[in-house]
Amino acid sequence: MFDLAGKIAVVTGGSRGIGRATCVALAEAGAYVLVNYRANAEAAEETLRLIQEAGGQGELLGFDVADPEAVDQAIKQAYDKHGKIDILVNNAGISINQLLLRVSPKDLEMTWATNVNGAIFCAKACIKTMMRKRFGRIINLSSVVAESGNPGQVVYSASKAALLGVTRTLAREYASRGITVNAIAPGFIETDMTSELTEAARAGLVEQTPLGRIGRPEEVAAAVVFLASDEASYITGQVVRVNGGMHV
Ligand code: NAP
Repeated sequence: MFDLAGKIAVVTGGSRGIGRATCVALAEAGAYVLVNYRANAEAAEETLRLIQEAGGQGELLGFDVADPEAVDQAIKQAYDKHGKIDILVNNAGISINQLLLRVSPKDLEMTWATNVNGAIFCAKACIKTMMRKRFGRIINLSSVVAESGNPGQVVYSASKAALLGVTRTLAREYASRGITVNAIAPGFIETDMTSELTEAARAGLVEQTPLGRIGRPEEVAAAVVFLASDEASYITGQVVRVNGGMHV
């Protein structure tokens, strides 16, 4: 439906879950996809296989988003090879779930390093290449809990709320350069991140969701493809909520 032919896309955390579905969906729409991962090369290879199976094209680009030098080096390598980066999906994320009284400085440091600093490092590295072309799409994966809050997720929800600040600020900073920056706030999506929830916790979350079910990674990926497309050219600084009505 949306045509991304000729576009070069970087998807952080493309090895699993929402990132993997996003890689495949962008490639199906015609983009050449650089599949980032941190440690799980085997899972990233599987993403690449799924891209190729869907008739798409891409390659692996392993780096830790929390390491600014590694980010700069990888994005430079991608730019030197492809001559541009059109789309950046800041999807890599971790969640360390603790009630406030159990939160450690390390929990904060680790979560911030990946979820917030990582997104900023990647945006900084890519935006330079986007400014040269006067075109870019940056899509940040936030979360429903950034807006609703959730007991046991003080650190995670704070990091995801910070990403909304990043989104709105970059949208204002780079609109004049033809670059749009938006966030997607998924609800409860079936991935490794949510696989450890107890049956009772899952049932509780489904009960809070008017559509009455857990979401699929592909349902989030579809929103990414739209925001990356020409059809979304007048949308910037916004939050697209893909949450089954969990938070309205
Ligand atoms: P997931 O299944 O746990 O996958 C996380 C991905 O992030 C993996 O590909 C992982 O790579 C990568 N990653 C983690 N730290 C990284 C780092 N420092 N550098 C590079 N890559 C890194 O997660 P998910 O559920 O698909 O979530 C994807 C995004 O959506 C996250 O930002 C998450 O917070 C957000 N989200 C998820 C849900 C949900 O219900 N699932 C809801 C709202 C928001 P490796 O495979 O190499 O470890």
